[in-house]
Amino acid sequence: MASSSSSSSYKSNSGNNAAMLLSDALIEELTSQVNDFAAARGLQVEDKEKVNDDGSKLLVTAPISLFPNAYPASSFRRGQILAPSFNLLVERISRDAVWLNETLSDTGVADVDPFTGRLLKMFQDIYCIEGAGKFAKKADRLGILRSDYMLHNDNELKQVELNTIASSFAGLAATVANFHRQLVTRVANEDESIRHWLEENKKAVLGSSSSLISEEDGVPENPALTCLPSAMNVAHRRYIEKFGVETSAEPVVLFVVQDGETNTVDQRMLELELALHHQISVVRMSLTSGYTNLLLNESDGSLKVLLDDGTAREVSLAYFRAGYAPTDYPGKDDEEWATREKIELSRATKCPCLGYHLAGTKKVQQALARPGNVERFFSGDELVNITPLIREAFAGLFSLGADATEFDKSAVNDALSGNEANYVLKPQREGGGYNYYSDRLATKLRENVSEDLILSNELAEFILMERLFPPKQMAYLLRSGKVEGYGESISELGCFGTIVSSDDGEVLHNEYSGFLLRTKFSGVDEGGVASGFATLSSPFLCN
Ligand code: ADP
Ligand code: MG
Repeated sequence: MASSSSSSSYKSNSGNNAAMLLSDALIEELTSQVNDFAAARGLQVEDKEKVNDDGSKLLVTAPISLFPNAYPASSFRRGQILAPSFNLLVERISRDAVWLNETLSDTGVADVDPFTGRLLKMFQDIYCIEGAGKFAKKADRLGILRSDYMLHNDNELKQVELNTIASSFAGLAATVANFHRQLVTRVANEDESIRHWLEENKKAVLGSSSSLISEEDGVPENPALTCLPSAMNVAHRRYIEKFGVETSAEPVVLFVVQDGETNTVDQRMLELELALHHQISVVRMSLTSGYTNLLLNESDGSLKVLLDDGTAREVSLAYFRAGYAPTDYPGKDDEEWATREKIELSRATKCPCLGYHLAGTKKVQQALARPGNVERFFSGDELVNITPLIREAFAGLFSLGADATEFDKSAVNDALSGNEANYVLKPQREGGGYNYYSDRLATKLRENVSEDLILSNELAEFILMERLFPPKQMAYLLRSGKVEGYGESISELGCFGTIVSSDDGEVLHNEYSGFLLRTKFSGVDEGGVASGFATLSSPFLCN
């Protein structure tokens, strides 16, 4: 293969290290390989803008970083260790209605943000009123969580957010890791310039005194595509056993999906695993369609889905890949909200139930950072062993709601005094593209904060967060199978965790379940692969 060159026909993004440039011929060759691999293994997404001439969907290579990104092995292990602890935390928060109400209602969030308000109201109606929601209260719970982190200040692992609904990319991330692992072992050994590339990135992240690439360095196995379906299988089998449903009646797992979803291949990979390894059938349906095609049996709480052939199948598990954004509830007569309620009221296991969903809100994340709040959910050995680990992963988090203290206001003051670049302003939204940075952040605060630091009500739905600055390293990023550019990049690690619990909170399954690394050019503020900011990558673990 060709060696490195100091000029490139590819577009340079946000600063670059010319000494590290790889030759155009090599990049073209690897791009062609990645596109072949993507077709062979389904590392693909639906094109958002284009369709085939006959109107059918067009699948393209998923946004991807051509090379894996250097990542400290010790920080990665910390993320793995934290996964079961965050699972437990979410599980316990979901059962603490008093604390959820205090956090989301008393602070003003539920008033200012009608979406969170509505989820909270449904949660209260079903779980907090005696005699209500009797089937929901008897249901098991499945959590498929993804805790996202950035490295900050000497590679400390700091949580960006905790996703408790529709945590995506397990399928594609596992496939990317396979591509990167074979690329590194096969090509880096043959090609001096790629080896040099990996070593320079290792130095950029671990410090210039770090050693050359060793035998232990490399891309780890990503078990996400095995672990997520396995956890679903645990929930499904439990359901069958608990309610005495005949397996011959073939209960199904319901995937609640968005109309117009483009990340379908990632979802289909889970579906395929469920079918091939666990003999479980999946039915996909939007909240809109569920209004007419899901039936709740009022006497036993079973949920049935009507199929095109007129037959109906019982739902063991409702797995949400939709429902986290107001746009997933477009109906004029609240049809989608009615569907959500129907599913919640049933005895089917939900992934997530409303309590888990609410535990993943940004307000909850900020509230947990307050002294005593993580500690509320643990006792005995867990209090000693788990809470400090969780706390260490928190970045600075500040309330802008009715509960804002002097501590929070001093951060607001700091952001208003020229240090806006050290903060991120976040509303209660999911899916990428909603945060405020730099000038926009300062303007938003200025419009809503008086001189004596009184915060307007409008700010209640926002949290202010310390901005994290992960180490930069060089990357070639591809979109739709073409090199979008090269330059300095930063990465965000996601660690999946799965948990199954019974109606009374007994934990039946709880484990770390794989990873996702997303990489973007360092000049890009926002994140998210589907939203077009980041690409999928893998950690090249460095020791
Ligand atoms: P969402 O629910 O929209 O994914 P996130 O909290 O994950 O919300 O924010 C979206 C993106 O913004 C992240 O993927 C990350 O790239 C960036 N981001 C969020 N918080 C921070 C932070 N504290 N420091 C730096 N970047 C951040
Ligand atoms: Mg996010």
